[in-house]
Amino acid sequence: SDVVNTPARPPVRAPRGAERTAKSWGAEAAKRMLMNNLDPEVAEHPEDLVVYGGTGRAARSWAAYDAIVRTLDELEPDETLLVQSGKPVGVFRTHEWAPRVLIANSNLVGDWATWPEFRRLEELGLTMYGQMTAGSWIYIGTQGILQGTYETFAAVARSLGRESLAGTLTLTAGAGGMGGAQPLAVTLNDGAVLIVDVDESRLRRRVEHGYLDEYTTDLETAVARVSAAKAAGEARSVGVVGNAAEVFPELLGRQVAGEIAIDIVTDQTSAHDPLAYLPIGIPVAEWKDAAASDPAAFTDRARASMAAHVAAMVGFQDAGAAVFDYGNSIRREAELGGFERAFAFPGFVPAYIRPQFEEGRGPFRWVALSGDPADIAKTDRAVMELFPADAGLRRWLTRAGETVHFEGLPARICWLGYKERHLAGLRFNEMVASGELAGPIVIGRDHLDAGSVASPYRETEAMADGSDAIADWPLLNALLNTASGASWVSIHHGGGVGIGRSIHAGQVTVADGTDLAAEKIERVLTNDPGTGVMRHVDAGYERAREVARERRLTIPMLDT
Ligand code: NAD
Repeated sequence: SDVVNTPARPPVRAPRGAERTAKSWGAEAAKRMLMNNLDPEVAEHPEDLVVYGGTGRAARSWAAYDAIVRTLDELEPDETLLVQSGKPVGVFRTHEWAPRVLIANSNLVGDWATWPEFRRLEELGLTMYGQMTAGSWIYIGTQGILQGTYETFAAVARSLGRESLAGTLTLTAGAGGMGGAQPLAVTLNDGAVLIVDVDESRLRRRVEHGYLDEYTTDLETAVARVSAAKAAGEARSVGVVGNAAEVFPELLGRQVAGEIAIDIVTDQTSAHDPLAYLPIGIPVAEWKDAAASDPAAFTDRARASMAAHVAAMVGFQDAGAAVFDYGNSIRREAELGGFERAFAFPGFVPAYIRPQFEEGRGPFRWVALSGDPADIAKTDRAVMELFPADAGLRRWLTRAGETVHFEGLPARICWLGYKERHLAGLRFNEMVASGELAGPIVIGRDHLDAGSVASPYRETEAMADGSDAIADWPLLNALLNTASGASWVSIHHGGGVGIGRSIHAGQVTVADGTDLAAEKIERVLTNDPGTGVMRHVDAGYERAREVARERRLTIPMLDT
């Protein structure tokens, strides 16, 4: 493989401050965010260039990484670097409104879009897995997913007729880069949660970073702790080391016997990639070798374990719990593993998130290139002042300010919608211009957003008009962001649900305090969420129609 582990390399850390070595802030920001993705505080396995989500990489190899950094430093303000699956492949003369970087990751022609073919090409050094924000350089550590997970669990509470999760117990698995946000998201919603991970080091890391209260290797202790917390109505998170395919069925037996009362069940193991899901019977220490030596046999075993895991989830649903798929394709993998009722429970988007997408609401995030946490505190206050009527936003930003441990460059995320995001972006740009902030702000988002993804097992599951697999929308989103002045734009395949199952796009725009940046920000941060409203209008969602009318989005066939 082209991906070589170079143990002697010093850890990567993005430069901080208001001085740049690149010739534009667009190029400097892209470089710092690439580096930030590989900062050991941020990346799950930086030595392998893996940022999160199984094998989601920031660059194809260390040689490619070095070449990207060098090229960005030399790039003229009217040039654009093209990156093909983590490798810099060309620099072209464009213009200053054009993105400084255009990225395409992991894309394959339809009939070839399978994991074995992808891995064959990856092994040849021809491609890499970009996940969503790994290969597009806007991953901000576990916080990025924390807010979305917080929003989801708040919606779960509402769907149960509760104001919060106080007095409930949630069971989940997977404490990795994304999944590690689950325990804190539940406790921020005042609930109790038990999280299973097969790899003790992942649970330890979540405790160190304040995302998990405690963990144990003993299931009895874990069950006693969370049951006591539920009974007392306390917010408490407990991790337990174990394989979810064994622990979930064990707990289901206790649920049915009345020994434990689990209210909500989900999962965020890396099920989208069968080689990143550990089957029953293989020790963690032998995981990599077993997956590498016989990927096909490992895949079969992983799917069989996922079938047991998902069968237990369906069992919990049959026993009255609220059960949902958390966007990792585990239902499909379990079905491939022979479990027929895998799709008995819904995905989290149709169950809880779609109403927000209809308004173009989604994961707006920003990063302080100064490296100064005070810049994030100031922008938090600015966002609260801009949207004083949004109580949920205020609660989130206040709690995040108190509890979120920054990983890498200080960053923040909150969900904002169409005709909201640009107001925040413009305010940040003014604060950079006035010197109120110590350096430029990078503004981006997850690919998991209202208008930027086609993913029939996740974001576009069960669309009202059946258009789940239509992938024109994310491509239009990327083209529009390119035309609107984004600093870098990306088109990926696979993401959180795996090869063959999604196409998605990202954009990042830099607020460097200039008038030009303000013009770009106004367009990009209006148009980008606008495509989410457009997509949901087209699919027939009434709230999206209302939003388009109220907020003056021109849709040529709105009333037909
Ligand atoms: P990760 O690879 O960092 O972590 C996965 C974790 O699962 C690891 O800690 C691993 O030890 C654990 N695990 C694997 N097999 C297990 C088993 N059998 N039992 C218990 N634990 C097991 O991945 P991540 O970044 O945390 O992402 C997790 C999944 O969520 C991925 O499939 C990803 O694509 C998906 N995802 C969902 C969303 C969303 O919005 N819902 C967003 C991003 C990613």
